[in-house]
Amino acid sequence: MNFEDIIVAQRTFFNSQKTKNLKFRKRNLEKLRDLIIKHEELLYEAIYQDFGKSKFDTFTTEISFVLKDIDYYLKNLSSLAKPKKVRTNLANQLGTSKIYSEPLGCTLVIGAWNYPYQLSLSPMITALAAGNTCILKPSEVAENTMKAMAKIINENFPEEYLFVAQGGVDEITEILKFKFDKIFFTGSTKVGQIVYEAAAKNLAPVTLELGGKSPVIVTSSADFDLAAKRIVWGKFLNAGQTCVAPDYILVDEKVRDSFLDALKFQIQKFSYQPNSEHYTQIINQRNFERLVKYIDKDKTYLGGNYDAVKRYIEPTVLHNIDWNDAVMQEEIFGPILPVLTFKNFNEALLIIAEKEKPLAAYLFTKNTEEKENFTSKISFGGGCINDVVMHLSNENLPFGGVGSSGIGHYHGKFGFKAFSHQKAVLERATWGEPDLKYPPYTEKKLSWIKKLL
Ligand code: NAD
Repeated sequence: MNFEDIIVAQRTFFNSQKTKNLKFRKRNLEKLRDLIIKHEELLYEAIYQDFGKSKFDTFTTEISFVLKDIDYYLKNLSSLAKPKKVRTNLANQLGTSKIYSEPLGCTLVIGAWNYPYQLSLSPMITALAAGNTCILKPSEVAENTMKAMAKIINENFPEEYLFVAQGGVDEITEILKFKFDKIFFTGSTKVGQIVYEAAAKNLAPVTLELGGKSPVIVTSSADFDLAAKRIVWGKFLNAGQTCVAPDYILVDEKVRDSFLDALKFQIQKFSYQPNSEHYTQIINQRNFERLVKYIDKDKTYLGGNYDAVKRYIEPTVLHNIDWNDAVMQEEIFGPILPVLTFKNFNEALLIIAEKEKPLAAYLFTKNTEEKENFTSKISFGGGCINDVVMHLSNENLPFGGVGSSGIGHYHGKFGFKAFSHQKAVLERATWGEPDLKYPPYTEKKLSWIKKLL
């Protein structure tokens, strides 16, 4: 396969203006929706082979998201793409001003493996909805899902419009040498820097959806049972391999023990067994080995067992943890939950503020002042009060990081904007042209201009 030929073909196709047609965009979104539904079993099978993810989890956290995105753009495309009329200032009267949402052109989407369908197909769908061509490079780490997406898409769409490029670091390094009009990347902060550098060489605009250590603060006024239920679900979903999963907990030291009890109760109740419907495997041996090194037996409050053959790590809660522990040095991205304590709420905020800005942050409290301070005093990509993870399921909220957790946003209208250029056009009337701005300049003209401006 020659990437250059495909990129050149996509550029030519984009220049033919066909992708700008709204009917063309809608037809292709409908076609993709039908293909996903038709091949649903293939998609479930592939992800199960990659890391034992169940149908239930795959539908609720991947397929339903992708179908919902298609549905959203089918319903909202006309209004999103419609030129927006804005007020025209005095200096430009008589005139009209409009903003045109213009597709950027030939786009590249690079996906991550942990939600391989959602994180590849959702940005790709957005790129197409906004009127672009797209090359999708899913993660080779979830190899079977990559092949399934390539099969469904490459056998049914012309490569000059949409193409799934398969391969690993060598292939993506080669692709990144070419000029794109937009690069949308989901993955680690380290690789995000490589992609950003490659994009800079061609001045390609980027959206970088990266990771980080997302904290959860639990204060003494929180409803512990509910907090534990929601945190345990969000943390151990996909075996902790979720970019917005709670990475660590900061709990008020006065209530630590009661909260740990509540966590234990929920974990036992949810019964996370190996190879079960509601618990996934660790993606590969490399990550399995990285994660088990974090399990310090002396600091294990609950769990801590693992099975290398099944790539299973039991939901594990660590306590008496401090910032020197190995588990606090990088994003965990697995089913290990360290619990740290704070003496007062401001200290908890300060701890977070001093670290890199996280992709998500969560607060469990009933106290209004704490809620206000949480939203106003610390920076994070997005988050929830009295829940975890769920903010990303509301397409009316922008999703993205800040600082080292990312650049830009997507979902809903925010995604449409990320794949569009906002082109400003002023149209002037062809009659009634005052002489004021034209030479020769005079004192009288200046005094009029001062009055008008
Ligand atoms: P990764 O950075 O290793 O890989 C992501 C993509 O980059 C893959 O498609 C991979 O093929 C490609 N890649 C790898 N090396 C590359 C290189 N040298 N040059 C160019 N591309 C390269 O990330 P991952 O392991 O797939 O995902 C885990 C990370 O992604 C975690 O940090 C997680 O928090 C983050 N993540 C973020 C989001 C988000 O929406 N913000 C979502 C999921 C995952």
